[in-house]
Amino acid sequence: MKNIQDVLNGLGIEANNPGVSTGNIFWEGGAGSIDSVSPVNGAIIARVSMASSTDYSKVVEASKKAFADWKALPAPKRGAIVREIGEALRVHKVDLGTLVSYEMGKSAQEGLGEVQEMIDICDFAVGLSRQLYGLTMHSERTNHRMYEQWHPLGTVGIISAFNFPVAVWSWNAMIALVCGNVCIWKPSEKTPLTAIACQRIVQRVLQSNGIGEGVVSLVCGDRSIGELMAADNQIDLLSATGSTRMGKAVAERVGSRLGKCLLELGGNNAIIVTPGADFNVAIPAIVFGAVGTAGQRCTSTRRVIVHESIYELLKTKLQQVYGQLKVGDPLDEAMHMGPLIDRQAVEQYERTVQVIKEAGGVFLVEPGLLQGKGYESGCYVKPCVAEMSEQLDIVRQETFAPILYLLQYTDLEQAIALQNDVPQGLSSAIFTLNIREAELFLSSAGSDCGIANVNIGTSGAEIGGAFGGEKETGGGRESGSDAWKAYMRRQTNTINYGSDLPLAQGIKFDL
Ligand code: NAD
Repeated sequence: MKNIQDVLNGLGIEANNPGVSTGNIFWEGGAGSIDSVSPVNGAIIARVSMASSTDYSKVVEASKKAFADWKALPAPKRGAIVREIGEALRVHKVDLGTLVSYEMGKSAQEGLGEVQEMIDICDFAVGLSRQLYGLTMHSERTNHRMYEQWHPLGTVGIISAFNFPVAVWSWNAMIALVCGNVCIWKPSEKTPLTAIACQRIVQRVLQSNGIGEGVVSLVCGDRSIGELMAADNQIDLLSATGSTRMGKAVAERVGSRLGKCLLELGGNNAIIVTPGADFNVAIPAIVFGAVGTAGQRCTSTRRVIVHESIYELLKTKLQQVYGQLKVGDPLDEAMHMGPLIDRQAVEQYERTVQVIKEAGGVFLVEPGLLQGKGYESGCYVKPCVAEMSEQLDIVRQETFAPILYLLQYTDLEQAIALQNDVPQGLSSAIFTLNIREAELFLSSAGSDCGIANVNIGTSGAEIGGAFGGEKETGGGRESGSDAWKAYMRRQTNTINYGSDLPLAQGIKFDL
């Protein structure tokens, strides 16, 4: 493992970092500064200045100016620049991945995995830059042709959450860029350093290609900058990732100006384990889904709905595996789980544990705060499993922590009803070798989530698919498939290549 100071040096992170940038130019924001604190050991890693509303306005102005030139560049040429960004990320993968782990607290392997996702989306976007297809339609009129084309929107604002501090930005930015948009990123105030590192990596690529200011911009700041973006008519699409509370506030503001937003919000994801499930795949999927990233993924497994006939067996297996889990420094590869993001998150975990106890939940694997050597940051908790006799309110909420609920079912319809009976609709899975059960789960009578899997858990996703969920998850789709269409405006074109103009309803004028 590389020394953290070498990692910071390699990424151009200094003790004090300007938190605003329009590309090549970085400047000190006028709204004070924040310390980036590592949940790994409680150390202050570095300080970042925060954007004021004046800084924000300057960034928007630069992006508006940049849009004209950027959209005029042919899409495959924009793709070629994104390809270079992907190459630069490959070069910095270990440093950036390590910083993600150190600033956010996810394991070293997950930090590297997150940067790999960025590289993958660059590759995807490069291919996409030659495939921004529109349809052609047969016109009902003689000598007419109809088709549709996709044009860039303008400025895409990106608000991101702490748990995927860099990948979510790249999912949005790389697709937005090949589509001909310019973008402005407001990262989580809990993880500003990884954002600065990304901006520096991209800046060098843009500079070497002679791309001017305003194509890729960064505004570090708290939620007030996000609120400015939501209210700003100049943000043509606002893609916001975070809690449902944030999404509702953003949707209301953007809706009031009839703007466009793409929302990626909370999840409350369940796995159904049927009597014929293969435990060799189900158990690792459950445990990885529940404790990966310390339960701080939007796709983390929060509920397991188990058939009554195998309930006791599954409990025994889970107890065995949870008994082997090691919690500690996420940069140590021997550890399975690192810390929560901060003390506030620990308090939320403790509050939820209290509510579970008061509601009569029984802990199969005990919760608790870890203290002593190696846990000085106060952010390390025990992953726990609670048996619930019914799906109470606390189970229906997303608690962003490694708390797993166990519920029993008798017939599959009941299990599907339980799985769907939460406000969120992001990810879901069934473990079964029975084709009828699998197909029912995937049918319109099955899971109501944006992601529904068979014999693979809820956690994570491949960039090739459209990512997102229904209900309080916000309805947005990002990344693969045809999610790019959210970043463009569709235009329907009709061309008359004949010498007369057939009017509707046969109306004629004497000329
Ligand atoms: P959060 O809502 O506290 O903050 C997310 C971002 O929104 C931050 O940048 C924050 O500054 C900004 N923000 C907060 N309030 C705002 C407002 N009123 N207007 C504009 N911006 C505002 O979320 P978090 O704690 O950083 O992240 C955890 C949450 O994110 C979880 O609910 C998780 O499920 C969700 N998440 C969802 C996805 C997804 O793709 N569905 C991905 C990652 C995280």
